[in-house]
Amino acid sequence: MTAILPGATIGILGGGQLGRMMAMAARSLGYRIQVMDPDPSCPARFVVDACFEGGWDDARVAADLSRGCDVVTLEIEQVSIACLEAAAKYAPVRPGAGPMRIIQDRILQKKWLAEHRAPLGAWRAVESEAELAEAIVALGGKAFVKSARGGYDGRSQVKIGFGDATAAADAWRLLGGKPCVAEKALDLDREISVMVARAPNGEAKSFPSALNHHENQILEWSVIPSSVPVDLEKRAQKLACDIAAGLGIEGLLAVEMFVTKTGDLLVNELAPRPHNSYHASELACVTSQFEQAVRAVCDLPLGDVSVVQPAAIANLLGDLWLGPDGESREPRFDRALAIQGVSLHLYEKHKPRKGRKMGHLAAVGKTPDEAVERVMAAKELL
Ligand code: ADP
Ligand code: MG
Repeated sequence: MTAILPGATIGILGGGQLGRMMAMAARSLGYRIQVMDPDPSCPARFVVDACFEGGWDDARVAADLSRGCDVVTLEIEQVSIACLEAAAKYAPVRPGAGPMRIIQDRILQKKWLAEHRAPLGAWRAVESEAELAEAIVALGGKAFVKSARGGYDGRSQVKIGFGDATAAADAWRLLGGKPCVAEKALDLDREISVMVARAPNGEAKSFPSALNHHENQILEWSVIPSSVPVDLEKRAQKLACDIAAGLGIEGLLAVEMFVTKTGDLLVNELAPRPHNSYHASELACVTSQFEQAVRAVCDLPLGDVSVVQPAAIANLLGDLWLGPDGESREPRFDRALAIQGVSLHLYEKHKPRKGRKMGHLAAVGKTPDEAVERVMAAKELL
């Protein structure tokens, strides 16, 4: 294998905030970057050399992008296999179509994890309304139902049995009558994630785990390091590294995990790209997840993942730009930035919508708790 050295061009399928921050890290290293995205004014647009307009299944545009690139990677798992294969005719695509085919379908992903003995909560693959009704009973009445394809940030998911009266028939209809997985609703003690990077030359490195807090199925804040007990950290690290190796990932793989009230460590889901729960790595670690992604796909030596200081992030959703009556307002960034150790990241998304990730605040602290307190205090001031 030969490294793809600075000066070369990296293609990214997807130009959202993850593509944007990866592109910024790639620029710092001296690479040129091209992205493909359905939206010509996507967040990455403003920091790349070229933006190709194309949907997630537009293989022709993916090929056009790849023709001018030395390597192609991605920032969203919904990119079609046809796109990945079309791009692979002109440049290596990392991660490749093999692992992507498994990860982009929740049913295949869970089957793969089960076959490879990764610990999972109880779940059922569901292909009809009747199967869903049956699954919900079998799972104890409280469940998360998730579309097999296409969901993120709690979208394409329905909760059942939480007091509201969503029936199986409604859930099936809400999710578009397509294959999905039903998962037993677990009693969570906490959620963590582990980011693994693997280079084509075989080198692999995993970051210390992040602790993640969700509200309404969307990540609210996240902190590195997670401060979980050492034995749990070891199990989480091994689990994530084994999965990344088993899948043959080239690039990044984030493994989201549940720690249940009964002490079980279970895999929630996989993301083969930079991950929201590692945005704090920019402040917390010697090497950020974005730089690590670039090193991994370019087959460079992987960077040091040690923690230099605890750091936390809090997501900024479009709701913050909308007043109580839906009128638009500008968050008071000046107030948030007055807090020591706080920094601001905005993704240049032009239309704030409820639940849409517009940016994040980050903060360092002497301890992980202090970092979280600071970032949440700063967010309160917006
Ligand atoms: P997304 O792809 O939107 O991130 P996830 O499957 O990770 O979807 O679900 C989002 C969040 O919803 C999880 O991080 C967790 O907080 C909650 N959640 C999802 N599935 C379950 C479950 N089976 N039991 C308890 N909480 C869950
Ligand atoms: Mg998730």
